[in-house]
Amino acid sequence: MNMKNNLLFLFALVTALAQAQPVSKLHRKAILVDTHNDILSSAMLEGKDISHRIKEGHSDLDRWKEGGVDVQFFSVWTDKVPRNKEGFYKDATQEIDSLKLLILKNPDRLTLARNYKEVKRGIRQEKLVALIGLEGGHMIENDPGKLEEIFKIGAGYMTLTWNNSTALASSAMDETLHPDSLKHKGLTDLGKQIVRRMNELGIIVDLSHTGEQTFYDAIATTTKPVLLSHSSVWNICPVFRNVKDEQIKAVAKNGGVICVNFYAGFIDSNFAKRSEELEGTRGKAIKDSLQQFYDAAKLNEIWRQRFAAELDPLRPTLAQVVDHIDYIVKLVGDDYVGIGSDFDGVSFLPVGLDDVTTYPKITQELVRRGYTKSSIRKILGGNVMRVMKANFK
Ligand SMILES: [Zn+2]
Repeated sequence: MNMKNNLLFLFALVTALAQAQPVSKLHRKAILVDTHNDILSSAMLEGKDISHRIKEGHSDLDRWKEGGVDVQFFSVWTDKVPRNKEGFYKDATQEIDSLKLLILKNPDRLTLARNYKEVKRGIRQEKLVALIGLEGGHMIENDPGKLEEIFKIGAGYMTLTWNNSTALASSAMDETLHPDSLKHKGLTDLGKQIVRRMNELGIIVDLSHTGEQTFYDAIATTTKPVLLSHSSVWNICPVFRNVKDEQIKAVAKNGGVICVNFYAGFIDSNFAKRSEELEGTRGKAIKDSLQQFYDAAKLNEIWRQRFAAELDPLRPTLAQVVDHIDYIVKLVGDDYVGIGSDFDGVSFLPVGLDDVTTYPKITQELVRRGYTKSSIRKILGGNVMRVMKANFK
């Protein structure tokens, strides 16, 4: 290398560092909250220890640290048929126990928060703050008493439905794809009672997975800001799990937050279309043959392996994920959007967002698009912190 080349190299290095440095400092200093991760119902129930880096899956304590995550909602999920003979509630507590065991093994790195003070304390102590998010109202088994019990254990949010409708409310899947199967549409009287009780106790009402009728009924019933813990934008990718413009405006009016889901099929409509085609043909044959030991986490993995050749080339980019964030910001401002990755709950992710170490790339892309530091801090976690503060005691 001659002198000129040396100088050019030095200049390129300094420029790269100048660009990289503020992003990483901004990312580290911001409170990063992810409102949806399915590691409990996937790896942990199978007895995997995620205290240290594991090869499979998207998450473990080492990788959360690397990704700069401060607060993680752990999704507690069970299918429409319970795993345990005792029922759905037992399924839920079993998953929460697996989280508590992980915390017992890692008291210096992980802590459970049941209120806003504990969230703030955990962040100050530089631990990963774990919160519990119930995914599916069926887990309280139509019993307000069980809602209170699970609140005492630590439930931070509850989606009123998963893909299955419940005695509380109709789901997005049923309202859209199986309307004839519905016994009721929207929020039932019991559902309204539960939403009010959630408000009183300090459990966030999560409207991801709910049908549009349920969504509007719940917004009319709740007195607190709502959360959509893992949903993206319908106008960019029109699938039943995403939210329409009028819903986004309603969330903004309510003071809530929509946390963008990274799943490839909720980000890009070409991916969604091909995936739906497979779902109806060869995918259906696979599902039918696996029915007696159906498990969404395992099925995701089988699905990924079988269809990688066809679906990998269609995976969206991480910039497309940021397009969803951008869309919400342009529609209603930067106070109502957050991140709800769905890591460890989905079969295909966008290129570049392969696991929980990759969140800094979102920050980088927001910086590249000219977002201010204050906007980025809100999107990464500030908005969800506001909703937690408004709901939690
Ligand atoms: Zn979900």
